[in-house]
Amino acid sequence: MFVLPKLDYAYNALEPHIDELTMTIHHTKHHQAYIDNANKALAGTPMESWAVEDILKDLSKTPDDKRNAVRNNAGGHYNHSLFWQMMGPGKGGSPSGNLGDAIKEKFGGFDKVQEQFANAGLTRFGSGWAWLVSNKGTLEIVSTANQDTPLSEGKIPLLGCDVWEHAYYVRYFNKRADYIKAWWNVVNWDFVQSRFKG
Ligand code: MN
Repeated sequence: MFVLPKLDYAYNALEPHIDELTMTIHHTKHHQAYIDNANKALAGTPMESWAVEDILKDLSKTPDDKRNAVRNNAGGHYNHSLFWQMMGPGKGGSPSGNLGDAIKEKFGGFDKVQEQFANAGLTRFGSGWAWLVSNKGTLEIVSTANQDTPLSEGKIPLLGCDVWEHAYYVRYFNKRADYIKAWWNVVNWDFVQSRFKG
């Protein structure tokens, strides 16, 4: 049984970049709904007690008639659980340490990452996520549709930005680019760096 994780900060703590109403609805309604639907889909299956990571790493083990529901809702639970930790008040700045070095080597600099990451988010038609991932130690920028997670493709999500309209519409309306630009101000690089072993 999955349960809604508590946030380490208040719903208004990411203002003005991410507004309080968006955070409240996103956490208590959207994330909760993914959890409820994942629990419902997994009830009575052998995967009921599995960690969400283990379920998503190999969706082929999910019963055929449950697979789509699990993919969407366990995926939604996992992605959002990460997302809350990938943000924080008084954060932003740029990555340093191992990750900073790897970014410089792979992309040429953090500004290039921001550009490619934003592009991944902007070109994702409809709903989905932009990601910085580690693919067996190599950094990549990708996007996924809906609640698909890079974990299901054998990649470790390091940083993810939710580009569903529910993540930004209240403050930014249709301006996804403005949301992504502002979102860099709340990225918790300490958490992101802790996920990078490469
Ligand atoms: Mn969301």
